[in-house]
This record gives sequence, C-alpha cells and structure tokens, in this order.
Amino acid sequence: MFTRRAPLAARAARPQTRGHPLPNPPDDAEARRAITPVICYPVETLPQPDMGLYSAARKGMSKVDEVTVPPRDAATFSAPAGHIFRISSIEGPQVGDLNLWNARDLSERFYSGKTRALHGTHLTTGDRMWSSFPAMRPMATVIHDTLDWYGIDSFGGSVHDVIGTRCDPYTHNLLAGGQYHHCCHSNLTRALAAHLGIAPQEAETHVHDVLNVFMCTGFTRDTGQYFMKASPVRPGDHIDFFAEIDILGGLSACPGGDCSSEHSSDTVPCHPLLVEVFKPQPDALKNWEPLAPNGYNRTHGW
Ligand SMILES: [Zn+2]
Repeated sequence: MFTRRAPLAARAARPQTRGHPLPNPPDDAEARRAITPVICYPVETLPQPDMGLYSAARKGMSKVDEVTVPPRDAATFSAPAGHIFRISSIEGPQVGDLNLWNARDLSERFYSGKTRALHGTHLTTGDRMWSSFPAMRPMATVIHDTLDWYGIDSFGGSVHDVIGTRCDPYTHNLLAGGQYHHCCHSNLTRALAAHLGIAPQEAETHVHDVLNVFMCTGFTRDTGQYFMKASPVRPGDHIDFFAEIDILGGLSACPGGDCSSEHSSDTVPCHPLLVEVFKPQPDALKNWEPLAPNGYNRTHGW
C-alpha cells in the first residue's frame, strides 16, 4: 500500500524551501495520490542470466591479469568475453566509479539510465550492466557480490548505485569554484587517454555515467535528494562480473574515499582498488554464447 504521509510532507516542504507559493491542490488530490504504482519495465521477459552456468564458471577459474587502481586516480583493464572480472577493496573502505566500453567499438558503452530503469537504483547478483543504443545488450552480469547482505537500510540506502553520474570538475566548479583535477570524470579521462594514446579532450567524450561500485546511496525521504553515506565495504569485499562481450573497463578510486563526508577534495582518506581478471576452465562455458546486439531494425518508422 502506498504510504501518503511522507510524500505529502515532501511535496509541501520542497516548494516552500525554494520560495515558491504552493498551488491549491485539486479536490481529488488524495485520490490521485492514492493510485497504486505499476512497474515501468517488468523484467520477466528479459533474457535471463544462467546463474548456474556463471557459478560453475567461477569454480576453478584462473587469474590472467590484475590492475591496482591508485587512490584519486583511475586505470583501465581488459576482460575478454567469457572472462570474469573482480573489483576488490584491499586496504580500506573505498568507492569506485566504473565505466565499460565494447573493446572493439567504444561507441557501445554502459548505459546507466537504462540499467536503472530495468533493474532499479542499485545492482546486485543477477543484475546486468546494459549497453547504449543501438546495441542495447548486457555488457556484464553481476555474478557474485559480498555486499549482497546489505539490502536496503532504514534510510533507503543501498550499495552499487546507478543513480549518481560520476564526480566531475564541472559540477565542482559550479558549486565550489576552483579547478579540481582528480574527480572520477577526470581520472577516467586520463586513464582512457593514456590507454588509447589520444588527447584527454578526445578521451573525455567517451567517459560516461558510471556504476558506483561499493558506494552507499539513496534519496532522502523528505526532499528526494541524492545522498551518500559511509560505504559498508571492507578489505576483502569484492564484486564479480561476467564479461558478456569483449570489455575495456575504466575504474576510478573516487576522491570521496568511502564517501562518508565529501567529494572532490584531497582531505578524506582514500585507498586503492584491485581489479582482477579470471579465465574460467575451458569446458565451463560450452553452453554459453555472447548475446547479439538488440533486434530492433532501426528504421524508426521512416
Ligand atoms: Zn568520484
């Protein structure tokens, strides 16, 4: 049942704080608010991940590569289709901002907004990271998450969000002024520029909204504002992804550290993150095939 008391208070509070007069509600305001919501995108008809196959792939997998992401910086990594990549907290609570690209075509990249529309505000085991139009297919599937236990806390917070965009120097300049160069946006830009051997201004155009790995976030109940709180991640915690296509990844160890207090500064403690890439046993994936790009014919009714 929809609880109307909190949303009503929120609606009354927001316009007043912004200095607007409240319009008179219509006579049937209560009835309109009482309408039961429906899920925008029921996901029952999505191609379902074969979790049994993925857990079999994790057994006996062997490490083929690893990259340590320094604090307040980013690094790239490659995960071929059918491999597993793991992001771990290693020295202290730390949030990571993750970008994914199709390694063969950077125009296909992680689509945070559509992933949110399909799976909700936070990802966990069984959820997928979907790619941009026109391919719109799973790029990676979350197959193991040691923070599964966290659920949704009493503030409405949860971990691994696809709400936030990535901390960036433009918003920082608007809100606080100055030129801060170690926001996740710039970290990812430098890492991609170095990997591709291109100018940062060109690399920047490929940087996109992220999966906020290990970040604990939600929306305040009274004003609907995006909030963060100290991440519950501890050294040893990790999240494992199955690469559904050939992946080029970028991961930034956010300058917000565990994101318990502030962003975009050099004042909070920050820690490295570890990315490891694993290859499953040869016969573990014999029933697996990469998904083809989306089936829409792109004529758009023309
Ligand atoms: Zn950040």
